Amino acid sequence: MSVVKGTYVLLMRLPTDRSISVGALGLLKFEPGWYAYVGSAGNGLSQRVGRHLSVPSKRRWHVDSLNAYCCERYALVWRSGGPSECELGRILTSLGAEPIHPGFGSSDCKCATHLFSIDEGPLNALLMIPNDGMLHP
Ligand SMILES: [Zn+2]
Repeated sequence: MSVVKGTYVLLMRLPTDRSISVGALGLLKFEPGWYAYVGSAGNGLSQRVGRHLSVPSKRRWHVDSLNAYCCERYALVWRSGGPSECELGRILTSLGAEPIHPGFGSSDCKCATHLFSIDEGPLNALLMIPNDGMLHP
């Protein structure tokens, strides 16, 4: 799927609470636990997700700043024709994930945020939604 377009939910676990500097958003507080970040790749979906699944040395996107402190990561992907990143955000909200940190990853759309705090219940519900694959580091 090297040149495939698509969307993804990056799931990452922060082991301890932390204040993290996130670009123009400034210093943000994060509780320990799982986070879900929705994103899209215009092409090279697997490369983009692969980049998120390794610890990024350069911080290009908001999520890189949080991801740098996380200890477990995996991702669900949808090839083009699946839900958009913004639709994935609405799906996460409907499943009970909590939208956090306004503007996080959503500079280019009208969503409040593309980052969610997600507990076990919504996480299990998310895994039940048909997707095009789960990627691990
Ligand atoms: Zn959006």
